[in-house]
Amino acid sequence: MARKIAAGNWKMNFTLQQAETFINDFNKESWPADVEVMFAVPFPYLMALKAIARPGITIAAQNCSDHEEGAYTGEVSAAMLASAGISHVILGHSERRMYYQDSTTVLKDKVDLALAHELVPVFCCGEPLEVRNEGKHFDLVRSQLQESLFHLTGEALGKIVIAYEPVWAIGTGVTASPEQAQEMHAYIREVFAEAYGVSIAQQLPILYGGSVKASNAQSLFSQADVNGGLVGGASLITSEFLQITNSF
Ligand code: PEP
Repeated sequence: MARKIAAGNWKMNFTLQQAETFINDFNKESWPADVEVMFAVPFPYLMALKAIARPGITIAAQNCSDHEEGAYTGEVSAAMLASAGISHVILGHSERRMYYQDSTTVLKDKVDLALAHELVPVFCCGEPLEVRNEGKHFDLVRSQLQESLFHLTGEALGKIVIAYEPVWAIGTGVTASPEQAQEMHAYIREVFAEAYGVSIAQQLPILYGGSVKASNAQSLFSQADVNGGLVGGASLITSEFLQITNSF
């Protein structure tokens, strides 16, 4: 059985002071011991927030470079994150794919560098609305996974977290129905089972992302192949995200 994860993606929100207040407040809250709680925060806040987050709260990065080091102004490498004590990094978020040309081959390199530096990639996949309307969403998600992950050994793959995030549900207020989420999560698990075997596939945490809120988290997380959520907007509101962490 895969572990349960409630991950917030703060994107480009909050000042440092707001972020510290949020984590200090969240430190006082409680959620089931078997739920991993994670916040992916802007680069400049990583170390400050890691220093104040209580054990059980993981502070993660939202991206890393596809280069090891060198003349890449403005970039942050996997090695830098690891040297700062960061353990997790989101890769392949649809906003990165859309606005910053994170192709499947660039993402393959990022995954390799993250793993080489012992970071856990939270690897996002998901289809735009027009692809779903054409009935090609399973094919697209399969190719996103194949092109960026299927070169990995089973051992390396076992370290990854997957997030299925249909692009049409991100930041739109439109959530995939629990049935739509389950259908795709079961498909993703099956794709990994074919390539890596059932045991690795069963252990793989597959998170759902796309307008997860306190009011819909329980119906999504109760699906057999949904192991938690990657949450954008609702992770910026303490009470909302707390309720999400308690929705398993
Ligand atoms: C996200 O950014 O990964 C996300 C799912 O955003 P939201 O929850 O706001 O749709």
